[in-house]
Amino acid sequence: MAEVKAYAAEASDAKLAPFTITRRDPGPKEVQIEILYCGVCHSDIHQARNEWQNTMYPVVPGHEIVGKVTAVGHEVTKFKEGDLAGVGCLVDSCGTCPQCAVGDEQFCENGMVGTYNGVGKDGETTYGGYSKTIVVDENYTLRIPDNLDLKAVAPLLCAGITTYSPLCRNEITHGDKVAIVGLGGLGHMGVKIAAAMGAEVTVISTSDSKEEDAKRLGATAFVNSRNEDSMKAAAGTFDFILNTVSAQHDYNEYLGLLKTNGTMVLVGAPPEPTPVSAFSLILGRRSLAGSLIGGIAETQEMLDFCSKHNITSDIEMIKMDQINEAYERILKSDVKYRFVIDMASF
Ligand code: NAP
Ligand code: ZN
Repeated sequence: MAEVKAYAAEASDAKLAPFTITRRDPGPKEVQIEILYCGVCHSDIHQARNEWQNTMYPVVPGHEIVGKVTAVGHEVTKFKEGDLAGVGCLVDSCGTCPQCAVGDEQFCENGMVGTYNGVGKDGETTYGGYSKTIVVDENYTLRIPDNLDLKAVAPLLCAGITTYSPLCRNEITHGDKVAIVGLGGLGHMGVKIAAAMGAEVTVISTSDSKEEDAKRLGATAFVNSRNEDSMKAAAGTFDFILNTVSAQHDYNEYLGLLKTNGTMVLVGAPPEPTPVSAFSLILGRRSLAGSLIGGIAETQEMLDFCSKHNITSDIEMIKMDQINEAYERILKSDVKYRFVIDMASF
């Protein structure tokens, strides 16, 4: 057991503050990782503030983790001391149910263990990446490509896989017309990945100031969702929409932008429900679907895809004690496009 410095929220209305946690010694199949960088996901804010009504306090958020292996259990074969390693949104699952068997550990029928705000097989609450170290089963630890900037790789562990998985499963390819709604942490990764898959990408954003960035990131068109004429002009034009919006908004307005047989996948997770009109779907035989992160093998595939296409996140580095300020800026959509915590600052 080791005492480890971390940052935690102790109540829904409390700021994050220094906190000490204990980490177990690595078991036979586990690796111990010194965390070098951790991305800041909007989910961390939803959880820290109990917006999804399931937070167990104190909560140590952070599920975009990269670092260096500092110790391994004696049965570990995939990692050795000194290797780079990554940890995403889940750190364990049963490994035997039908979902785990096909690599969808995030839908484990016996309950996947979240990297934070989860309960591990040892019965202990899991604590995430806003901390100096973490101990994880080697089968839930990712190999990090060595041709990419490590700090800009961290956000791939959640924002990367959450956008890669639905784009891949919907077989996005050359010539497909894809819209990404919301140009934030997830959205900017969605643009890069969809463009690398060959899609013609449009960014749909509430803010005109993001148009230039959208094009630099790989989009060929931009629609301001608050401009009625632009939305009207885009009606019926997309094969696929990836919706990353974090706050309540009218899904019907976006469903109308799909072609016949088009699909909108929700990855954004606003706490409040929103009504969907049957007519938004039955006219044009449109589909509305959802997607949750991705499995471990799929996450490794995404990292390898990003390595091949030289894709990383656009990041703003922060020190650990700037986290509360960073949360406020994320809520104002004022981040280009992911905050990453430098753990050496702590
Ligand atoms: P983010 O960086 O804050 O980006 C969200 C974007 O949504 C903003 O940049 C903004 O884009 C847009 N937006 C915000 N409020 C809006 C509103 N009222 N109406 C329309 N657009 C609005 O957040 P993120 O880290 O990318 O996460 C996005 C969401 O995905 C969160 O709810 C998060 O919890 C969820 N998430 C889900 C999964 C999953 O597995 N499904 C995984 C990770 C995160 P513009 O400025 O361009 O309008
Ligand atoms: Zn996340």
